[in-house]
Amino acid sequence: MVQILRYDVVIVGAGLAGLAAAKELTTAGKKTALITKLHPLRSHSGAAQGGINAALGADDSTELHEFDTVKGSDYLADQDCVEFMCSRAPQTVRWAEKMGAVFSRDEKGDIAIRPFGGQSKPRACYAKDRTGLTLLQTVYEQAHRAGVEVFDEYYVADLIYKDNKVSGVAAYNIKDTQPYLFNAKAVMFATGGYGRAYKINSNAHANTGDALSIVARHGLPLEDMEFVQFHPSGLGGSGVLISEAARGEGGRLFNSLGERFMSKYAPEAMELASRDVVARAITQEVNEGRGVGDNKDSVYIDLTHLPKETILQKLPELRELAIAFLGQDMLKEPIEIAATAHYSMGGIPVDRDCHVRQSPTQLVEGFYAAGECSCVSVHGANRLGANSVLEALLFGRHAGETIIKDLERLELRPAHPSDVKSMIEELEFIKTNNGQYTPNELRTKLQESMTHNAGVFRDEVSLLKQREILNDLMVKFQSIRIDDKSDLYNTDLQEAIELGHMIEYSRFIVESAIHRKESRGAHYRVDYPKRDDENFLKHTYLKLNENNEFEIEYADVVLGKFEPKERSY
Ligand SMILES: Cc1cc2nc3c(=O)[nH]c(=O)nc-3n(C[C@H](O)[C@H](O)[C@H](O)COP(=O)(O)OP(=O)(O)OC[C@H]3O[C@@H](n4cnc5c(N)ncnc54)[C@H](O)[C@@H]3O)c2cc1C
Repeated sequence: MVQILRYDVVIVGAGLAGLAAAKELTTAGKKTALITKLHPLRSHSGAAQGGINAALGADDSTELHEFDTVKGSDYLADQDCVEFMCSRAPQTVRWAEKMGAVFSRDEKGDIAIRPFGGQSKPRACYAKDRTGLTLLQTVYEQAHRAGVEVFDEYYVADLIYKDNKVSGVAAYNIKDTQPYLFNAKAVMFATGGYGRAYKINSNAHANTGDALSIVARHGLPLEDMEFVQFHPSGLGGSGVLISEAARGEGGRLFNSLGERFMSKYAPEAMELASRDVVARAITQEVNEGRGVGDNKDSVYIDLTHLPKETILQKLPELRELAIAFLGQDMLKEPIEIAATAHYSMGGIPVDRDCHVRQSPTQLVEGFYAAGECSCVSVHGANRLGANSVLEALLFGRHAGETIIKDLERLELRPAHPSDVKSMIEELEFIKTNNGQYTPNELRTKLQESMTHNAGVFRDEVSLLKQREILNDLMVKFQSIRIDDKSDLYNTDLQEAIELGHMIEYSRFIVESAIHRKESRGAHYRVDYPKRDDENFLKHTYLKLNENNEFEIEYADVVLGKFEPKERSY
């Protein structure tokens, strides 16, 4: 029997975006359920190391932060949203500080700021190299104190969507597979990133993009999915992140010939050029045979010239990660790194106030999104380091503010037990299907082929090949088999559902990339190496129609005070 629960607001995801919204809503007295497949403090926000941007420095300004963000985005960001974010950044950091977040301090006792790639001034505020965890713990404590009801280890599998209105979600309790229907006036998705589609990635195992394919299955569009950010410094072989803070503090990159190769690619900014530029430079060095390590698939980052105290005090966690995963101590020797799939600029399209869009001009009623699963779009074609924790916290909080206002007119449309039918069918299918493929086999194929064909460099041939591979994976998924048929903590079941999502949203990444015949930001087409503003200064909206075929539409970018120019660092 399905359990039906009623709330004013249901939030899916308890990272920084979901928790910030939950804190605002519960403080305002709204009955709020926060659903998460992990314990809130296990959300990937807690892994953020480097920092959160705010123009706090004496010689910095909001306008400069805006300019760096728009330039970093390769001019694809919507400038009204960038202005909103950068102007509210200082107050967002102060908000977190007042709630109890302990930031690192400079010698005067002010919040310390460090330089990050693509920024003309130091502006990443940080708590050592544990910024995300510090913020997550703070906002969690405060949301808890305000009385939010948390459903942790509940898996959201479907959205209740009819006639362009959302009235809840279908979920099951991971502990015993008991189905639930959360009926609400407003639903917010804050489900985070989806880098797990790639073999080498920096993301948590939970970052499987469930919400994206849930939205897409209802015929709603996804925006700018071709833009996947590859971070320059994942540990060689695994992709585990070595934060940009390592370059911010002065780390230098070398190839196997001992050349500090960034001088060829970004002579002025060097290692602190924007992420897409550095990730491509590293990949090119490796592809041209100048890699290091057993498989020659990495380059070195060298921090040995830095004072020991800098590493021990500002980068202690990074040092531990490199020792644990590679046995390399950055105090004594250079460590091996390579580009790793890290962040997704695209996602569920939303307006500046976090309302989900049904098309470039129409909104869905009662549906909101914020954080990495959404595309607002403040990062355009490439996100700058330390702008994402900012986005999640700031727009998560703002979604809360928007929903509080909207609740004055939103009504509860009663949901019916039959609304969980699709979820029950999906669970039954996976449990009872006795096909020939294990989730592990299909996932490996997906991740390896995405890294190979839709990675740092792509072209028509590789993308068309990847389209075929994904179509084939869709067919094979119908012949999936899991061994555990039980209802108790069935992680096989959950992983199979997640794999289905990964295959589905990967099709959006590849299809959008096939159609964008230019290079911009993180999307680099070897066959179209130039940016083409005449045809592609536009956002991609891709959706599935009633016949399950892709339909593509483009929306104008909101320009403003910064005219598109060629980007150089
Ligand atoms: C290693 C690493 C380091 C980073 N460092 C920085 C940094 O220094 N600065 C910066 O600005 N950015 C950084 N980023 C990016 C930034 O941390 C993220 O973009 C941001 O924290 C995302 O927050 P979020 O709230 O959107 O999602 P998350 O924190 O990822 O939370 C997602 C939530 O959704 C829930 N969820 C997902 N699917 C379901 C489902 N089907 N049912 C129920 N619950 C579900 C999860 O349980 C989780 O609670 C980093 C990212 C990584 C991976």
